[in-house]
Order: sequence, then structure tokens, then C-alpha cells
Amino acid sequence: MQVEMIACTKDPELLIERAGRECYDSFDKLNPPESTKRIIEHLLKSGHTSVLEHASATFRVTEISRALSHQLVRHRIASYSQRSQRYVRETKPEFVKPSSINTAEREEAFGDAMRDAWHHYHTLLMLGVPAEDARFVLPNACHTSIVVTMNFRALRNFFSLRCSPHAQWEIRGMAFRMLALVKLEAPNVFIDFNEGLQGGLK
Ligand SMILES: Cc1cc2nc3c(=O)[nH]c(=O)nc-3n(C[C@H](O)[C@H](O)[C@H](O)COP(=O)(O)OP(=O)(O)OC[C@H]3O[C@@H](n4cnc5c(N)ncnc54)[C@H](O)[C@@H]3O)c2cc1C
Repeated sequence: MQVEMIACTKDPELLIERAGRECYDSFDKLNPPESTKRIIEHLLKSGHTSVLEHASATFRVTEISRALSHQLVRHRIASYSQRSQRYVRETKPEFVKPSSINTAEREEAFGDAMRDAWHHYHTLLMLGVPAEDARFVLPNACHTSIVVTMNFRALRNFFSLRCSPHAQWEIRGMAFRMLALVKLEAPNVFIDFNEGLQGGLK
């Protein structure tokens, strides 16, 4: 899995401070970085989190499974652009193998399933079946890539659900990588999320 941040609002925390101070007509208190930290703390504590929507980040995520991307796109407050299996033919058998595939027997069963799927996919293509139909035999493990943009309020919701120990391991790994990147841009907005917990990941 590769996660990169390809765009982020410039000076996102200052923007959030300016938007917040509009609400309270408190521009006289604008004195970054101290005032920025203070007002963001207040916004988070009071639940006035709509102000966070003014800032957003865009990530490019590659070498993830379709099982992950299916979970990701359930997060509706976001924008997505995903590699198409209709227009792009899957030339190589690239897939995510869970760490639970860890014995010779499991490896064999998993490997057979992957080989069969790709074999049948290519057979269908050779028989003239369009890629959009041949893809029906491809597995959830199949690699995909996606560009996702979320505003900071939606990102906080995403991290609360997907950095949790209840989240599935692959999306959790992605969420922690995204968290580490966005924390560099907006440490105060994500102060209550701890990327150090990633150590517990599979
Ligand atoms: C551990 C875990 C297990 C899950 N298991 C399943 C499962 O078995 N089956 C399944 O279908 N899904 C499952 N999900 C997905 C989950 O139900 C959510 O669809 C997903 O996490 C997106 O969350 P969200 O709706 O908060 O995010 P977003 O869609 O980004 O929405 C953000 C927030 O906007 C508000 N919102 C958005 N749309 C509406 C709306 N229509 N009405 C009211 N408020 C709205 C809500 O406050 C919401 O929290 C699981 C998620 C997790 C984390």
C-alpha cells in the first residue's frame, strides 16, 4: 500500500481560525500560532466543527484491494476518482494478500484462487468479452488505486471510525498513513488522534 498526500489547503489551520473568528467577530484576538491553537481547541471542544470544513486534503492511495476501496467509498462526505475496471484492462495479477494467509496450505488455496481468477479473466477477454464484463470474475483482493479528497471534518469522522481497533486491518493501515500525513499540515485539528497506535496494526 502506498499513501501520498497530493494536495492540501494552504495554511489550513489559519484558514480555520479566520473562519471561526468570523463567527465570533473576534479578529482582534488573531495572533497565530498561539491564537490558532486556542481557537481550534475551542471549536473541537464545543462541537463547532463545521468550521473545519473549509480545509481539505487530497490523497492518492495505490496498491490497495477492492475490498478496502469498497469500505472507503461508504464515506459519503468525500470525493473519489478510482481506477476503472471498465476502461482499464488488468494486465498483471496484482493483489493484496492478507497476513492470515500464513501457512503452506493457506498459501496454496489463496494462490490457486488468484491464478484461476486471472486465468479466467484473460480467457474471457480473449473470447471477446468486454473488460467491463470479464472483470466480474476478478477477486476482492485485486489491486486498485484511488484519489480521495476529504474536508477536515469528514477526515476526523473517518479517522474516528477507521483508526479504531474495530476497523478492518487494511483500511486501518490506510487511515493511519493518512493521519500521519495530515497531522504534519494541521497538528491541532487532529491532536486527539494518535498515529503512534499504528504499531498495533497487522
Ligand atoms: C467497524 C465498522 C464496521 C462496519 N460494518 C458495516 C457493515 O457490516 N455493513 C455496512 O453496510 N456498513 C458497515 N460499515 C460502514 C458504516 O456503516 C458507514 O457507512 C461508514 O463507516 C461511513 O461512515 P459515515 O456514514 O459516518 O461517513 P460519511 O458517509 O462520510 O458521513 C459523515 C457523517 O455525515 C452524516 N451523514 C451522512 N449521510 C447522512 C444521511 N444520509 N443521514 C444522516 N446523516 C448523514 C453522519 O453524521 C455521518 O457520520 C462499517 C463501518 C465500520 C467502521
